[in-house]
Amino acid sequence: MWVVGLTGGIGSGKTAASNFFAEQGVTVVDADVVAREVVFPGSPALAEIVEHFGNDVLQADGSLNRASLRQRIFANSSDKDWLNQLLHPAIRERLLQQLQAATSRYVILVAPLLFENGLDAYCQRTLVIDVDEQTQIQRTQQRDQVDAKQVESIMAAQWSRQQRSAAADDVVDNNGSLAQLIAQLKPLHESYLTIAENT
Ligand code: ATP
Repeated sequence: MWVVGLTGGIGSGKTAASNFFAEQGVTVVDADVVAREVVFPGSPALAEIVEHFGNDVLQADGSLNRASLRQRIFANSSDKDWLNQLLHPAIRERLLQQLQAATSRYVILVAPLLFENGLDAYCQRTLVIDVDEQTQIQRTQQRDQVDAKQVESIMAAQWSRQQRSAAADDVVDNNGSLAQLIAQLKPLHESYLTIAENT
C-alpha cells in the first residue's frame, strides 16, 4: 500500500486538504479517529484502562472520560508510560489494518502529530500543509471560538513550521484562498497516482 502522510499544525487546513483527496476517490485514514476508536466502549483497551485506573475514568454512558484520564496521567508518569504502552500498539495495529483495507490507488494518512509520533514510518511520502502562525491562530479562533492563548499552547506542543517543512517531501502553502490550496493539490494528486502506479 502506497501511503502519503498528510500533516500540518492546528488550523493549517489538513481537513480542507483531506476533503479534496477524498473527493478524488482517495481513501483517507485519520489517526485521531483511530485513536478514539481503540478506546470505544466494548474495546479491550478500554477494559484494561478501567481495570488499571478504576471506574472514575468512565463517563455515565460508559465512554472514556478523557479529561479525567488526562489528569490521572498528568500526576503520575508511570501511569502515563503504562497508558502509552497499551495504546500505541493498539493504535498502530488498527491504523495498519485501515491502511491495508484501502482500495484506492494510494492512501492518505492524516495526522496532526505525524512526525511527532513517528507515524511517518508508515508513509512512503509526506505532505505538509503550511500556513504562517498568525493565520493559523486566526483561522482556528474563528472555527473553534477559542482565545489565542489556547491555540498558542497547542501550537507549543507541536513541531514548529520550520521543523515540519524541513521533514516533509512536499509542502503546500495555505496562506491564500481555498481555491489556491486546491490548485496546488491537483498536480500533487496526479504525481502521487503516477508514483503509486510505478512502485
Ligand atoms: P486541526 O488540526 O485543528 O483539526 P486542520 O488542519 O484540519 O485543523 P482545517 O479545519 O482544515 O484545519 O482549517 C482550519 C479552519 O480554516 C477551518 O475553519 C477552515 O474552513 C479554514 N480554512 C482552511 N483553509 C482555508 C483557506 N485557504 N482560506 C480560508 N479559510 C481556510
